[in-house]
Amino acid sequence: MRVLVKGAGVAGLTVAHELHIRGADVTVLDSRPGFGHAASWLAGGMLAPWCERESAEEAVLSGGIDAADRWDAILPGEVHRNGTLVVAPARDHGELKRFAGRTTGYEWLEEEAIAALEPALAGRFRQGLFFPRETHLDPRRVLSVLQEKLGRQGVAFVNETTSEQDFDDIVDCTGGARIAQTPDLRGVRGEMLYLRTAEVELARPVRLLHPRIPVYIVPRSGDLFMIGATMIETEFNGPIAARSLMELLNAAYALHPAFADATVVETGVGIRPAFPDNFPRVRREGNAVILNGLYRHGFLLAPAMAAEAVDLVFSRNSIGAPAP
Ligand SMILES: Cc1cc2nc3c(=O)[nH]c(=O)nc-3n(C[C@H](O)[C@H](O)[C@H](O)COP(=O)(O)OP(=O)(O)OC[C@H]3O[C@@H](n4cnc5c(N)ncnc54)[C@H](O)[C@@H]3O)c2cc1C
Repeated sequence: MRVLVKGAGVAGLTVAHELHIRGADVTVLDSRPGFGHAASWLAGGMLAPWCERESAEEAVLSGGIDAADRWDAILPGEVHRNGTLVVAPARDHGELKRFAGRTTGYEWLEEEAIAALEPALAGRFRQGLFFPRETHLDPRRVLSVLQEKLGRQGVAFVNETTSEQDFDDIVDCTGGARIAQTPDLRGVRGEMLYLRTAEVELARPVRLLHPRIPVYIVPRSGDLFMIGATMIETEFNGPIAARSLMELLNAAYALHPAFADATVVETGVGIRPAFPDNFPRVRREGNAVILNGLYRHGFLLAPAMAAEAVDLVFSRNSIGAPAP
């Protein structure tokens, strides 16, 4: 069976992988070369279903609980299984209690235990929450390595529009590009930045709670730290706002003052496609299966949703429906 996957973000690549292992002949079409304009390129890469439950429905926890295992099956060795640390400045201790009240799967840590986990934070926070089962990956590495792996396995990658008639089915994973055509799909702007410093070492994502702008800092190789992310109800994808930049930098500085001397390597803006309940959907529309609405859970939920999308492809094509 020949299947066209539109979009080479995390949704498209996980769908292509699932189709390939189930025996389909796969072509991935992305209208623009490189990953730079995909929301997936901007992501923190946290596989954090327990923390996300603070503001998300139960389905995000149950759907994301095996995300690390799914990614390990797709790309062995890319998942860092170090947990998530959540801290708050002493004046915002109420935020920590509120976060604990809305989540599960954590243990309370006192100052010494925080220092044992993250020596760079010794003496900086009196209490924290540790979510030991959470994991993270580097989205940019994962996208590139997965595309290379699929290419080696015979999946074709093209940037030019190709005749849809040549395929038995189509899976549309074009993310935010579908907002204009899909009445219940909206965009949620996320601003982020990359800092580089050798003065701070972290082993895991750290979330810093704040009543107005909670942020997270995700360590990457090469002394890089991804700082994210704003959540703004707009599809405007222009450059980062000064206020957001200040708030993200302030938060990094509040976590560790050495971030004041870090180099700002990059700022970025991504539009998270979201349905009203902020949970992704897989559905058939016309001649294509659509996977969209991954919101802030693209890396967390894409492997599971890709399997659902491919089930739909195979359920139609195995009963002999006409090609689109
Ligand atoms: C700042 C930020 C931080 C985030 N952090 C996390 C996190 O820590 N963990 C997590 O799980 N999620 C996170 N997310 C969410 C995650 O990034 C998104 O849910 C995910 O990237 C959506 O993936 P996608 O493949 O649907 O869309 P995209 O990544 O946007 O990919 C869509 C692709 O389709 C292509 N395309 C568009 N139109 C066409 C067309 N007509 N034909 C062919 N191709 C087309 C585009 O070029 C693009 O490459 C974050 C998002 C942001 C913005």
